[in-house]
Amino acid sequence: MIPRTAAKCQTENWQDDARDLVRDPAELIELLALPAETLPAARAAAEQFALRVPRSYVARMAPGDLNDPLLRQVLPLGDELIDHPGYTHDPLGEQAANALPGLIHKYHGRVLLIVSGSCVINCRYCFRRHFPYADNRPGRDQWGAALDYIAADPSITEVIFSGGDPLSAADAQLAWLAAAIEAIPHVRRLRVHSRLPVVMPSRVTDALLDWLGKSRLCASLVIHANHPNELDDTVAIALARLRAANITLLNQTVLLRGINDDLETLSRLSESLFALGVLPYYLHLLDPVAGAAHFDTERSHALTLHQQLRERLPGYLVPKLVQEIAGEASKTPVA
Ligand SMILES: *Cc1c(COP(=O)(O)O)cnc(C)c1O
Ligand code: SF4
Repeated sequence: MIPRTAAKCQTENWQDDARDLVRDPAELIELLALPAETLPAARAAAEQFALRVPRSYVARMAPGDLNDPLLRQVLPLGDELIDHPGYTHDPLGEQAANALPGLIHKYHGRVLLIVSGSCVINCRYCFRRHFPYADNRPGRDQWGAALDYIAADPSITEVIFSGGDPLSAADAQLAWLAAAIEAIPHVRRLRVHSRLPVVMPSRVTDALLDWLGKSRLCASLVIHANHPNELDDTVAIALARLRAANITLLNQTVLLRGINDDLETLSRLSESLFALGVLPYYLHLLDPVAGAAHFDTERSHALTLHQQLRERLPGYLVPKLVQEIAGEASKTPVA
């Protein structure tokens, strides 16, 4: 594909990879030999929500193809600047469930910690593209309040590291937080929601395997892959290491128009994931976030696809089709 970027996948230090992102639309267009006419709109849309993409992810894209399913997830488009009624800045009502800075408690038994506001990739359909991360960047002192909240509520048996991407924080910080949570006796499970093992597999470090895999808490990692082309050999190796460290691997996918909203792609995705030891967990309908309307699929199409998946694959390879509705007590099954 693109040798110059491919070589970069081999870096030892993920933090070097995280600093060396492609951030300039002109560079992305040049790396992939895309038409120069795409640049002005890409620049305009990137002003609203920046372009960020790891080089190893770019290396998995087909040069010259504006419809490449990986490129479509990260290339800023003029479509994002068009207002659509019903597409808002806080589609999930998260700001109402923000019990404390850095802590979201919406569902019974589980709290979500916003461990890091940043991501190494900016997915154009991200439901948190307008989230006020600046108000949710607790330092070690403020984590004390979040830990007290968890300790005071024995119904909380699971803590979820989320973000942004929680794995864009350093292992030392994550290990500290994981240890503090381990010290709360009623917490039994620690879950991490991260796209990093897929988009920048160098992030799967020995230190990560240590604090997550050796915890007394039952550990799971929910990755986020949307297309089988994302799962190359470097990702396969990273996932094998996580599995060998006893971390249960699940995947969530966002249903995206023109990227994965067909039976062939979704069944290949489930089969590729399982071959790498990952079970499909959720298939999300797009959250109606401003700027992402062009990724939305018809609900009837989503239902048909899901029915076809059930008819084609064993039950355990069919992700649950869900939607997040503000104020509900769980993700809502779509039927
Ligand atoms: C999605 C989500 C969870 C996790 O839900 P599960 O159904 O357990 O995967 C927890 N808290 C919040 C705020 C969420 O959005
Ligand atoms: S990795 Fe997740 S949180 Fe980060 S931009 Fe993509 S969808 Fe959003």
